[in-house]
Amino acid sequence: MNQSETQDFSKLPSLGTTIFTVMSKMAQEFDAINLSQGFPDFEPPEALIEAFRYRLSAGHHQYPPMHGIPALRTQIQKKVARYHQVFVDPETEVTITSGATEAIFVTVQALVRQGDEVVIFDPAFDAYAPAVTLAGGTAKHLPLTGTQFEIDVDALTRAVSPRTRLLIINSPHNPCGGLIAQAVLEHIADLADKHDFYVLSDEVYEHMVFDGQRHVSAIEIPALRKRTFMISSFGKTLHATGWKVAYCVAPPTLTVEFRKIHQFVTFTTHTPCQWAIADFLAKDGGHVEALPAFYEKKRDLFKALFEPLGFQLTLSQGTYFQLANYSAIPALRGLTDKDCANTLTQKFGVAAIPISVFYDRPPQDQRLIRFCFAKDDETLRQAARRLETRLNERRKL
Ligand code: PMP
Repeated sequence: MNQSETQDFSKLPSLGTTIFTVMSKMAQEFDAINLSQGFPDFEPPEALIEAFRYRLSAGHHQYPPMHGIPALRTQIQKKVARYHQVFVDPETEVTITSGATEAIFVTVQALVRQGDEVVIFDPAFDAYAPAVTLAGGTAKHLPLTGTQFEIDVDALTRAVSPRTRLLIINSPHNPCGGLIAQAVLEHIADLADKHDFYVLSDEVYEHMVFDGQRHVSAIEIPALRKRTFMISSFGKTLHATGWKVAYCVAPPTLTVEFRKIHQFVTFTTHTPCQWAIADFLAKDGGHVEALPAFYEKKRDLFKALFEPLGFQLTLSQGTYFQLANYSAIPALRGLTDKDCANTLTQKFGVAAIPISVFYDRPPQDQRLIRFCFAKDDETLRQAARRLETRLNERRKL
C-alpha cells in the first residue's frame, strides 16, 4: 500500500510501531544494554512466583468473573484504603484489567463520543492519543512546562470548556518523573465541576515516589473521586510487567460503563495471575512499602554514574525513569533526540528513548532522552562503563 492509500485506509494513518518496541528491538539487534523500555531486568518477589506456581497447580484454569476475582478486588480495596484513605466498594467500583493499557483504552471508549475533546499533557505516554482518535474524539495537547514538567494551570483553565469530556493525567509521570501536587488536583476538580468533564488518572507508578514525598491520588480529592477513573498496574508494583494485571477504580455508575466495554475487549484477565497477586498481597510481606527506598537507591546510583559522563539530570521524583539532557556532551550535543537515542543504541551500546515521540508537536532543539533505571545495579554500572569508554574514544578522535 502506498502512502496515500494508507492515508485513506488506516484509522491511525500517522501512527507507526510504539517507540518502546522499536528501541527494544534495536537494542537486541545491536547488543546494547537496554535502558529504553520500562521493565525491570530483575525477578519479581519469590513469594509471588511461589503463589503463582501454587495457583497454577490448584486448578485455576477457567474464566474468572468478568470484573476480576473477589479475592483480588478485596485486596485492592484494602490497598486503596491503606495508601489513599479512600473507601472503594470492590463489587461495584473495582475492575481488574489486562494491563493498564487495557484500562486506559476502555476508559476512553466508555466516555468519549464523536467530536468530544480530551485534554492530554505532553510529553504523554503514547497509549492515550490513539485511543481518543479511535473513539472519534479530538485530543487537545497542552505542554507540561518548566524544568520539572508541571501542569500550567492557567493554560489548562483556558483550554477546557463544555466541549471537554475527559482530562488525562499521569502521576508519577512517565517520562518526566514528576508528581502532580494536591493543589493542582484541587484546581482540576474545580474545573471538572464547572465544565462537567471526567478524569482518567494514570497512577501506575503510584508506589515509586522519592525523597520522602507522598503520591496523592486523584481519588483522594472528594470532588474528583466522583468523576475519576483511577488506573494502577501490578506490572509496575510487583516487577512483573509481563503479567499484565492492572485495575481501574471508578464510582459505580462509571464502572458500569467501563465494564460494558471491558467485557468485549478482553472479557477477563488471566486467572492464575490474579490468584497469585491476591495471595501475595494478603500475606503483605512489606514489598510495596519497600518500593520507594528500593527505587530511590537505584535513581541515586544512576545519578552517581551518569552525571559524571556529562548528562544533566533534573532528578526524577517518581517512576523508574530519569530524563537526561545531553547538550553538554560534545559527541552528542549536535544530534536530535532521535539521532541521539539511535547513536547511543547502535554505536555506544546503551539504549534510551527520545522524548520527542511523546509529543504531538515536539519542542525544537530539546536535547532530552529517557533512561529506565529499573535494572540491576551491575547493569547500570556496565552501561555507564560502556558510555564512558565510547565517549573517551570519541574525545581522542
Ligand atoms: N501508563 C503508563 C504511564 C505507563 O508507563 C505504562 C507502561 N509503560 C502503562 C500505563 C501501561 O501499563 P501496563 O503494562 O500495565 O499495561
